[in-house]
Amino acid sequence: MKLHEYQAKALMKQYGIPVPNGGVATSPEEVGALAEQLGGKVVVKAQVHAGGRGKAGGVAVVQGASEAQQFAASLLGKNLVTHQTGPEGVPVEKVMVEEAAEIQKEIYIAIVIDGATKSAVVIASESGGMEIEEVAESSPEKILRVPVDPVLGLQPYQGRKLAYGMNLKPELIRPTAELAVNLYRLFIEKDCSLAEINPLVITEDNRVIAVDGKVNLDDDAAFRQKELRGQRDIGQEDKLEAEALDFDISYVRLDGDVGCLVNGAGLAMATMDVIQTVGAEPANFLDVGGGADEEKVKKAFSIILSDPKVKRVLINLFGGILRCDVAARGVVMACEETKANPAIVARMLGTNSSEARQILQESGLNVVLVETLKEAADKLKEVR
Ligand code: GDP
Ligand code: MN
Repeated sequence: MKLHEYQAKALMKQYGIPVPNGGVATSPEEVGALAEQLGGKVVVKAQVHAGGRGKAGGVAVVQGASEAQQFAASLLGKNLVTHQTGPEGVPVEKVMVEEAAEIQKEIYIAIVIDGATKSAVVIASESGGMEIEEVAESSPEKILRVPVDPVLGLQPYQGRKLAYGMNLKPELIRPTAELAVNLYRLFIEKDCSLAEINPLVITEDNRVIAVDGKVNLDDDAAFRQKELRGQRDIGQEDKLEAEALDFDISYVRLDGDVGCLVNGAGLAMATMDVIQTVGAEPANFLDVGGGADEEKVKKAFSIILSDPKVKRVLINLFGGILRCDVAARGVVMACEETKANPAIVARMLGTNSSEARQILQESGLNVVLVETLKEAADKLKEVR
């Protein structure tokens, strides 16, 4: 789950990380009032669950209340399209107003989970800001990485090492090192999958301040972060992904036209690879989960079919705890309910697979049954 910038910054503030003074508003008038209160130069920022706002015209530094109000009016109620959103963009319903920082330098710090070291890793760079992806590409030596021992946590010496590595002035070493340790505490205590400050700014008067803030929460820890879960903004989420999440289905929408119904995350990944080997693109990742029942399979299949891009579907199930006949009934129910009749290639092996095949064959659906993944791939080409 993603938090908005204003929510992320409120958390950061709780953890002793300096953030600019400001607030959030839902109307141009409120934005004007906030800007008036803050006085002087302010920055007005669209609050959306996507980065790249700066380049997309979602951020402006303005002088005074009326300019702030005007810019807010141009954002609110519209969709913002950035390089991280789809072409339709995401709706802007809230706008943040903050005292503008006088920027001397933009640096970068983030914490993510690193699969390779099986730990959290702090990533930092002396060149932060909107071109961070380019820095990572063209001067990877400028990106520092410090893996964190999960038992010991981020040690003060590691924070200092990062700060020195970023070539900061001596008086900035300590506040930056402390900030790194505080960000790590936040990351762990709030069960984050990402905590990022880009840019972390060195101001003209030599303070370190988080000018942007991004926090993503690990959905698997939702049960112990109830308060933060209450901050979820469904309006920012992909409708189908949000629906799937509510039914505990792992579903990620992609750009292709082949819907996939699979049980098990590993099998789902392998299935997507197979789809690509025949020159097709998956429309989604979907792991219906081991303990799914008819209802859940029906829901999963309905979600797949609700994506207008889906022209054909590959079902790849290995029946274990989820019996194949149960899955087959769910699929048939979904097609009946949605009145959809897509071309389906189905590979169902394992428990009760023969019942499943019979159910599908007698369903009147446009389905081709296969035994192997190779066959599935070949058939997929035919049902294009
Ligand atoms: P993002 O593009 O979605 O990551 O949005 P950011 O919050 O990072 O803002 C984009 C850019 O706007 C930053 O990299 C800064 O260069 C600029 N910016 C943001 N806040 C301020 C500010 O307070 N003062 C100044 N001068 N520039 C700012
Ligand atoms: Mn940013």
